[in-house]
Amino acid sequence: MNVYDSERMADVLAPLGYGLSDSPDDADMVILNTCHIREKAAEKVYSDLGRLKPHQQKKAEDGSRMIIAVAGCVAQAEGDEIMARAPQVDMVFGPQTYHRLPEMVSKAKRAVGEKILDTDFPAEDKFDHLPEERVRKGEVTSFLTIQEGCDKFCTFCVVPYTRGSEFSRPATTVLQEARRLVADGVREITLLGQNVNAYHGEGAEGREWGLARLCRELAEIDGLERIRYTTSHPRDVDDALIAAHGDLPKLMPYLHLPVQSGSDRILEAMNRKHTADDYRRIVDRLRTARPDLALTSDFIVGYPGESDQDFADTLKLVTDIGYAGAFFFKYSERPGTPAASLREQVDDAVKSERLSALQQLLESQQEAFNASVVGKTMPILLEKPGKHENQLVGRSPYLQPVHLDIPENRHASMIGTVIDCKISSLSGHSLFAVPIDDAESGTDSATRHNTARPNPSEPSSGQERISA
Ligand code: SAM
Ligand code: SF4
Repeated sequence: MNVYDSERMADVLAPLGYGLSDSPDDADMVILNTCHIREKAAEKVYSDLGRLKPHQQKKAEDGSRMIIAVAGCVAQAEGDEIMARAPQVDMVFGPQTYHRLPEMVSKAKRAVGEKILDTDFPAEDKFDHLPEERVRKGEVTSFLTIQEGCDKFCTFCVVPYTRGSEFSRPATTVLQEARRLVADGVREITLLGQNVNAYHGEGAEGREWGLARLCRELAEIDGLERIRYTTSHPRDVDDALIAAHGDLPKLMPYLHLPVQSGSDRILEAMNRKHTADDYRRIVDRLRTARPDLALTSDFIVGYPGESDQDFADTLKLVTDIGYAGAFFFKYSERPGTPAASLREQVDDAVKSERLSALQQLLESQQEAFNASVVGKTMPILLEKPGKHENQLVGRSPYLQPVHLDIPENRHASMIGTVIDCKISSLSGHSLFAVPIDDAESGTDSATRHNTARPNPSEPSSGQERISA
């Protein structure tokens, strides 16, 4: 979401004459768009600010000025502290006020030394005040925020405090934005939200639409080949969404569905409001609707009070589900969250040990999953030229990077198309493939979508199921 927000900030600043720069060397403004989810992410802000100092000084010596801004969730949570700790910062603003950047910039420019702090949760909807989204040159994939904030208050998480309460954008505006993106060449849209499947935006007839209905309407857009969404919460996976996975070939069979822990005791302490078996049942139903569905998840190890048995339950759940990828974190105390004040904090050495065991298991599952697609035929969305001459890079339905040998003179006509490819080999996390048909064949992607693809819940021949 921060990537999406940063792009929108660039859109807001473009009419003021600002363009993107590859490095801070000679920049007129540097915006650090920050994440507060874990302590390490928040600390990075201060080290990045330190690294910017010489650039800012050089700019001043040359008789000009570098405005420095801290945006995002660290700004929201620690605005006053940033101002006190880093006097070089001119502007601090949260994730809900960046549409006000033009006023902030003009104030900051008027007076050197004037500090701007805007961490409101404004009554106005920032999306109503943002300019139209611009598709950056040649991009065929795009994020689209449809929902923000969270009312679930997991006991470890800062999001409800930094992003505010849950809010869904009207479906009509989302569809308009999606159509504009597709008209500009985008072929894959990833819908974003902190709890994207809690989406409940107003639809055309004034009725509330859930995520499933929104996906169905998006799937009607000609030229849009692929739809994804992230991040979803197990509690909000409803029947309609499961059915949409079965019915919509454009909805990619790759789902990020964080579970955090496999222990019911810890899930309850986390206020997740689902058990490990609830999660297993949801996954079963999703896989029944879409047998080639692959899953990824987030895990936290060392939540306060987590015992060896609780952790063993997590390993068991991972083994039962079989993931295609995952993010895993040591529990990080976040100020102001209920879990931070619990006394039974887990020793860091224990957290490290558990993290490494979990990492080993999840990485072996990911490797096995990647290996299982070799020899299979998959539709690949071609995105951009590769690093080597005569090479194109695309993505599989499972977001795996796929490299193809294609003569350079055909790149322009092929980027943005989906073609069936036979996966020939795997190196690290990258796949190599050969197009099946003539790349310019007129077959539509929905037809091609039915090509035999790997069933991630069944290991391919020669591949063992991974166990802890
Ligand atoms: N809404 C999503 C959900 O409920 O699963 C998660 C969004 S959160 C921004 C991304 C991930 O960060 C979480 O799934 C969790 O694994 C991790 N996370 C959040 N707070 C954390 C904390 N205090 N310590 C470690 N990891 C944390
Ligand atoms: Fe954070 Fe997700 Fe829980 Fe909301 S549902 S509090 S975003 S972890």
